[in-house]
Amino acid sequence: MMPDPQHNRRAVLAKGVALLASGLTIPACASRSRSNTASLPGPIWPHEKGSNTPAPSAPRTTPTIPSQGQVTVLARSQWTNTQPILSQTNPMVRIESITVHHDGMSPVDIRTQADAADRIEMIRTSHVEHRGWADIGYHLIVDPQGRVWQARPINLQGAHVKDHNPRNLGVLVLGNFEVQHPTPAAKQTLDRLLAHQSLTHRVPLRSIRTHREWASTACPGRNLQAHMNSTRASAGNLASLLA
Ligand SMILES: [Zn+2]
Repeated sequence: MMPDPQHNRRAVLAKGVALLASGLTIPACASRSRSNTASLPGPIWPHEKGSNTPAPSAPRTTPTIPSQGQVTVLARSQWTNTQPILSQTNPMVRIESITVHHDGMSPVDIRTQADAADRIEMIRTSHVEHRGWADIGYHLIVDPQGRVWQARPINLQGAHVKDHNPRNLGVLVLGNFEVQHPTPAAKQTLDRLLAHQSLTHRVPLRSIRTHREWASTACPGRNLQAHMNSTRASAGNLASLLA
């Protein structure tokens, strides 16, 4: 709810009013990003359209987990040509926790890749233009069809849990899970993605959390929270993937 101090508050308010007047509900679960400069990171995820091949310079992000096939990540270039404002970002030096969110917006039917890309770009625009942040707040996004999208580059600190952004990877599932149920495809992909990120960055299961487990918020919605509760339980899918 708090824009970066450099940002013109009057402009923020004006844009916020305009967005609200147009009926757009701004995602409710992000928090402020911080200043300080980081150099432009090298490629982490595949950035060729349609490519499943990870960038050779980043072997830690190879999108494979044992016995679970691959987690293909659609590159940022698939949904935006706009880069983060690097002067307003901090580097992500390591990852110690993973936090799951929903977008909390009015539900829409997201089926095609273009539908999802439009939604993600709308979220980025609201975070940058309305909240005054450097970029979309989250690092990885799961859509209802089970696709995974690269959002904020993973070596830049995110903006998704107020006061807990350092070393915290932000994973967004598109939808409002106070009123919707996550699709089976989204749940399956989310579990695999979380398992892959957990193994890649050596984040223990207990450090895979939801937004409401950090702060007082409805995010990620009661129905996604229910999935997270069950998948992390001792007999749950995510727990089994990490066993
Ligand atoms: Zn959230």
